[in-house]
Amino acid sequence: MEDKIKIHVLNTGYVEVDEALAFKDKSYNPIAYTGLFRSNKHKVKVPVFSYLIEHPKGNVLVDTGWSVASREDYKSHLPLKGYIASKPILPSGENIAEQLDKLGIDKLQFLILTHMHVDHVDGIRDVQDRAEFILVSRDELKAANKGGGRYIKELWKDTIFDRFDWNGEMGPYFKSYDVFRDGKINLIYLPGHTAGSTGVLIKNNGKFVLITGDAAYAHASWENLELPGIINDKVRTLRCLKWIQKLSKADNCVEILASHDPEVKPHIIEI
Ligand SMILES: [Zn+2]
Repeated sequence: MEDKIKIHVLNTGYVEVDEALAFKDKSYNPIAYTGLFRSNKHKVKVPVFSYLIEHPKGNVLVDTGWSVASREDYKSHLPLKGYIASKPILPSGENIAEQLDKLGIDKLQFLILTHMHVDHVDGIRDVQDRAEFILVSRDELKAANKGGGRYIKELWKDTIFDRFDWNGEMGPYFKSYDVFRDGKINLIYLPGHTAGSTGVLIKNNGKFVLITGDAAYAHASWENLELPGIINDKVRTLRCLKWIQKLSKADNCVEILASHDPEVKPHIIEI
């Protein structure tokens, strides 16, 4: 048996969103996602997850959750579009740097962003100095730097990214990237939610765990092929969900982790 890989599922706060944002079909209303015309009963609070992967060759962090600055005063830290549709909630001790401190992790070989929406990238300045390489797909960085939609370029103005090009053929679009060149941690091109969304497939000892990012919001996304409210491309989103559904049925699938699944609690997985 090879050295085990440990995955920490870390709850880095919550985001309060309109329920139509999470699942398109439940109460679909084209303007609902802005939150402007909806009563409070349509608001749902969902967790924001980040993940620490302990690989034998180094630590890998996937996504960063909310920053300390957003906990203190999100209205002055973020522009309006950063919180109008998705309000940050970050309890004390749940910021990603605070959680890494608690785990005694001061060095990250890689920091990976599944995509560059505010709830995934906001905490980057709190942890980027610990990371040797900060990986984001070239497709995602290109879309994000245009600054449209829910991208807030100010959040990464001090960050040097190591944009990568796909070097493998896994996933629904046969585009993947082998992080340590040992087949154990593969970034998977999962477009649809955003142009360059990336999942993380962790394989070891004949088993696997998949981190979906926001390609899926919760179990229902792949179990019932339910589309989220915000999508960049419907056809691509559905293709990715079908691929995730197929993986979820494999005998050696240990877990599929979606970034905002309300049924998931912080835990540790070892494979
Ligand atoms: Zn998200």
